[in-house]
Amino acid sequence: PNELLFYCRPGFEPDLAAEITDKAIALGWPGRAEYRCDTGFVRFVIDGDEPVNGLHRALPLTSLVFARQSLVALAPLSLFREDRLTTIIDQVVASGWSFESVWQETPDTNEAKALSGLIKALRRPLESTLRKRGALRRKASGRRLHLLWSDGDRVQLGMSFPGNRSELSGGIRRLRFPHAAPSRSTLKLEEAWHEFVPRDAWNERLADGMQAADLGAAPGGWTWQLVQRGMHVYAIDNGPMDKALMATGLVEHLSEDGFTWEPPMRLDWLVCDIVDKPARVVSMVERWLVRRWCHEAVFNLKLPMKRRWETVSGCLLRLEHALDSAGVHVEMACRQLYHDREEVTVHVRLLG
Ligand code: SAM
Repeated sequence: PNELLFYCRPGFEPDLAAEITDKAIALGWPGRAEYRCDTGFVRFVIDGDEPVNGLHRALPLTSLVFARQSLVALAPLSLFREDRLTTIIDQVVASGWSFESVWQETPDTNEAKALSGLIKALRRPLESTLRKRGALRRKASGRRLHLLWSDGDRVQLGMSFPGNRSELSGGIRRLRFPHAAPSRSTLKLEEAWHEFVPRDAWNERLADGMQAADLGAAPGGWTWQLVQRGMHVYAIDNGPMDKALMATGLVEHLSEDGFTWEPPMRLDWLVCDIVDKPARVVSMVERWLVRRWCHEAVFNLKLPMKRRWETVSGCLLRLEHALDSAGVHVEMACRQLYHDREEVTVHVRLLG
């Protein structure tokens, strides 16, 4: 195979394409991104004929902002509706691929959801034929075959590898909205923790009694998450906070400007969901980290503009350079989460 297949939020294909193209070129893998707007996926076809697995490994999914899933892919297939199976099986057998599981998926679009009946009907015959042909096996190093159905006669096959993929169908983390939370935004912070804090570190890094600041906190969806973990929260916002949340006694609400407020002591967490220019948010976070006012931070960059990858990469580079030259060592990641709309979420953690 000579192409990679990425899933993304519909509408962000140009941003994902720009990101992959930039990063692949920087890694010495020129190629071209192919996509149509609002389809929810992007293909990246490399120029040379080296195995594309090298590029796949060099671009870990966790390092990508706009990708929800990353696969090594075969050429897209057009199928005969009378016999879809034969074409699919032939392509798998010709590729020599073997795998332990098969996932059929669709892009995150409304049209694609109509394909669920077809996918259900195909599952048994597909799996049993693949098993008969030796492609679907009990042991195949955890490799997984993905079929991305974009229409009833359009499918693209890809392979994913343990440690460099989303373990979630469609790369989507569905979370149940907690009804006691004051706003739907609450899911963005919860998802960020799932994404950036390993589950076995939650008790240590999201611990009872920790101190946090929430800038742009009202009505309190993010503060609610912090309070659920037993943290004390400085909630900075001119707007009103949810009454039940205030009644927990764990929240101090201050009507101040989040961009200039300074914490009275070192905190464990800074979170910020203020709608403002990304560059302004990044400067504020930079100040917090350089002065070591917090140990970890989660913040959003709102992206109402056109060239979103350019904006994001510029902001991240600036922050990296500033922290670097201040001698502040961090781990940093930025991802567009499922619950993010026109925005991405950044996580930074002080090291040492
Ligand atoms: N994260 C919140 C939640 O889960 O409920 C929602 C936050 S809402 C998207 C943005 C908030 O930022 C608004 O309540 C607004 O009043 C506040 N805000 C805007 N500019 C601010 C500033 N300079 N300082 C503090 N808060 C600000």
